[in-house]
Amino acid sequence: MTDTFRAIRVSKAETGQTTEIVNLTTADLMDGDVTVAVDYSTVNYKDGLALTGAAPIIRSFPLIPGIDFAGTVESSTNAGFKAGDRVVLNGYGVGEGHNGGYAQKARVKGDWLVKLPAGISNAHAMAIGTAGYTAMLCVLGLEHGGVTPDKGDILVTGAAGGVGSVAIALLSKLGYRVIASTGRASEADYLKGLGASEIIDRNELSAAGRPLNKERWAGVVDAVGSHTLVNAIAGTRYGGTVTACGLAQGMDLPGSVAPFILRGITLAGIDSVNAPMTKRVQAWSRLAQDLDLKKLDAMTTRVKLADVPALGAEILAGKVRGRIVVDVNA
Ligand code: NDP
Repeated sequence: MTDTFRAIRVSKAETGQTTEIVNLTTADLMDGDVTVAVDYSTVNYKDGLALTGAAPIIRSFPLIPGIDFAGTVESSTNAGFKAGDRVVLNGYGVGEGHNGGYAQKARVKGDWLVKLPAGISNAHAMAIGTAGYTAMLCVLGLEHGGVTPDKGDILVTGAAGGVGSVAIALLSKLGYRVIASTGRASEADYLKGLGASEIIDRNELSAAGRPLNKERWAGVVDAVGSHTLVNAIAGTRYGGTVTACGLAQGMDLPGSVAPFILRGITLAGIDSVNAPMTKRVQAWSRLAQDLDLKKLDAMTTRVKLADVPALGAEILAGKVRGRIVVDVNA
């Protein structure tokens, strides 16, 4: 067990943020009752915002970014964890105000950790990451709204991204017919391979539209927000549920109450960062049960720690397909 480890560290300079790979010691870690030997992290859209400084995600400098990690407990004074436990961390402000996953070591509160189900390896946990766990929360939201496969199609927006890709794989395995909305027509075969039955151009949904449209889908997983979310709601069948988790197009919601008061549509907000522990455990257990690992592998690219800073800008530019696993020890 060595005390030094490698990490990405973001510091604040007069001219903005600086990002470097540094050697740190465990004394540089923040408070917590569980120390984890990190195996893998990942790059989510929010990590892109943090790494580039495009939004004020990082609240304390200098900081190790990375909102996710999976690894093995090295030491613990928390009664719920012991050395050797395989754990995953998603959110809770890690990589924002507390040192995060782009490091070979992490120290966090045990209350933030989920023990990984036997069917999910540490690498697969990060192929899933916050994006995939959020996709599962969306599927749980649809189920909570009573949207079963017989009720009609499900629209997935931002389809070729992380949340979108995992949502398609989950929904198709659960028997739903999926309509994938993407700006990347070149990814049609990729999306069909994950289980999409129909591909639509995201331009169909991205401009201001009518308050109510033809009823096309029974439910929605939306990672995009703005006009796309409004149009997704306007095309939802009577009594359907729209799960909203993202803002890739924008944070605004320029719409009408018509779908809610005339069609009984439910808009279900999805938050992964502060989701209660019972929900997290349920989501990870359902991921172990309902995610086809071959499809997960097909949507995953593996990179090294040094590749992460450049990927931050790429994910914001919508150039990353599916999911990225970061091997922090490579
Ligand atoms: P990705 O970048 O992997 O996916 C986002 C996708 O959205 C892109 O791949 C692209 O898909 C589409 N997109 C990008 N820009 C635009 C645009 N201007 N207009 C329309 N579509 C666009 O990100 P993630 O999957 O990691 O995250 C998706 C969203 O969900 C983000 O906004 C993120 O912040 C949010 N999120 C929220 C969570 C929560 O707790 N609520 C947790 C996790 C993520 P395509 O090329 O197919 O069109």
